[in-house]
Formats: sequence, C-alpha cells, structure tokens
Amino acid sequence: MRYTSGAVTALPPSLSLTDRVALVTGASRGIGRAIAATLAARGATVGVNYASNEAAAVALCDEIIAAGGKAIAVGFDVADEDAVAAGVKRVTDELGGLHILVNNAGISIDGLLMRAKQEDLRRTLAVNLEGAVYCCKAAARYLLKAKDAGRIINVSSVVGETGNGGQSMYAASKAGLLGLTKSLAQELAGRRVTVNAVSPGFIETDMTDAALQGDAREQLLAKIPLRRIGAATEVAEAVAWLASPAAAYVTGHVLRVNGGLAM
Ligand code: NAP
Repeated sequence: MRYTSGAVTALPPSLSLTDRVALVTGASRGIGRAIAATLAARGATVGVNYASNEAAAVALCDEIIAAGGKAIAVGFDVADEDAVAAGVKRVTDELGGLHILVNNAGISIDGLLMRAKQEDLRRTLAVNLEGAVYCCKAAARYLLKAKDAGRIINVSSVVGETGNGGQSMYAASKAGLLGLTKSLAQELAGRRVTVNAVSPGFIETDMTDAALQGDAREQLLAKIPLRRIGAATEVAEAVAWLASPAAAYVTGHVLRVNGGLAM
C-alpha cells in the first residue's frame, strides 16, 4: 500500500482523512512533525504549529504541498491563551474549519524536584498541561461543528503513567493530560467528538537525544521488552488511527506506544 500526501492511493475509507482539517501543536520537529506528515499523507489538510522554529515548520509544509497536500505553518506559544485563540482562528479561517486537534507541544526540564526552579516548574505545567487546555478550549466550538469527525488527541507519556525520578513536574503535567482527556471525553461525547491520548515510551527525538546516550541507553533498552527505542512515525501511526473514522467508537482511551515498557 502506498500513501502520498494529498493524493491518497489505495487507502481504505475507514482510515482516510480526506476532507478533514487537523491542527498539530509542536509540529516543527520530532513526534509532532511525524504526526503532521502522517495526517497529511492520509489526506488531511494540516495546520503545522511551532513555537520558534518557523523555518522547520515551513519546510514541512513545503514537503506536504509538493506531495499534493495542503498545509500552513502557524506560529504560537501554546502557553499563551490569547495567541492560541488567534492561531486556532487562523487555521479555521484559512483551512475551512477544524476536525482534528493534536496536542503534542511539550517540553521537558529535568532534575530533582528539591532543586527545581519555580520558573521551570511553572513553564513545564504551562506548556505541557495549560497549553493543551487552551487549545482544547479554543478548538472545542469548531470540533463540535465537525460532529462525528471531531477528534482531540493528547500526547501524554509513559512517565505520566508510571512516574520517573528526576521528572516529577514533567510526569505531573503528563498525568494531568490523562485527567483532561478522560474528563473532556465525557463532556464532548454527546456531540460525538472523541478525546483520546497516546502515551509514548522512549522515542528518538531532540527531546531524548541527551538521555539516550551510552550506558543510559543500554540500561533503558534492558527494561523495554521490545528492546529498542521507538520512532516518531510509530507514535504518528497511533495518532492517525485515533483520528480516523475507524476509531469513532473509541473515546477516553490511552493508547500506549512504548515497546512494552509499561503495561
Ligand atoms: P521535541 O523534539 O523537543 O519537539 C518539541 C516540539 O514542541 C517542537 O516542535 C517545538 O517547537 C514545540 N514546542 C515546544 N514548546 C512549545 C510551545 N510553548 N508552543 C508551541 N510549540 C512548542 O519533542 P518530542 O520528543 O517530539 O516530543 C513531542 C511530545 O511528545 C511532547 O509533548 C513530549 O512530552 C511527548 N513525548 C515524547 C517522548 C520522547 O521520548 N521523545 C516520550 C513521551 C512523550 P519549536 O521547534 O518551534 O521549538
């Protein structure tokens, strides 16, 4: 089976995202980039959000457009509620509505909690948790119009489920996303909008680059039943499925993409 952005070939209708508009936060790099590219390859028109890396976001849009798809780069800081509202409005105005919101933008400022600076704690919660809340709030009225095509997918983390020493605030923010997912799933179910989370394990990106070197990498691999680090595209596949018509009866779910690290 071959998929190309915008011109979807041989894709079952249950997996097709043709006529859907998606907004992916933090899509200039890593997992978000893979998600945006995969949604586009399934036929979605995509708003590619970034915080500061405009060139990378524009380059992804150019790739999607060159493959026959449609995408725009939309810069905003998810922790800024007014900027989020303006960014979501721009996506809906320029792309014609919104069906799929993927809250992927995230940061990780690691270290022991007793040594953590207040500004780092606040920023972690502001980007990882408040950011998703602001995006859900701003997107909700458009998603309600999308009815059974409406989807929210929050990118949590294995660390939000199991905890991890040295990542207390990050874990708290990611656990918070699971509470948000399940509560909002109940609020929006009456309008057939689904709200789910993916919970990645360790995935090869800029975020994990420093932590996945040398002995630390080997020790981690020993704990992962599938004995390898995941790829961003593997998280993107899970998100694309949750976004698809095939997943219409799945809501409030946490889909683990972690090689068996936590079960
Ligand atoms: P990454 O490579 O560091 O990329 C982070 C992305 O988020 C970038 O596109 C960045 O934009 C964007 N971003 C950061 N702060 C933002 C803000 N305030 N507003 C808007 N966008 C912002 O990270 P990643 O590894 O792909 O992680 C993506 C998500 O998956 C995060 O939520 C992370 O917590 C989660 N996750 C990652 C792993 C893993 O092993 N990598 C595991 C579990 C969960 P700029 O390029 O403009 O800076």
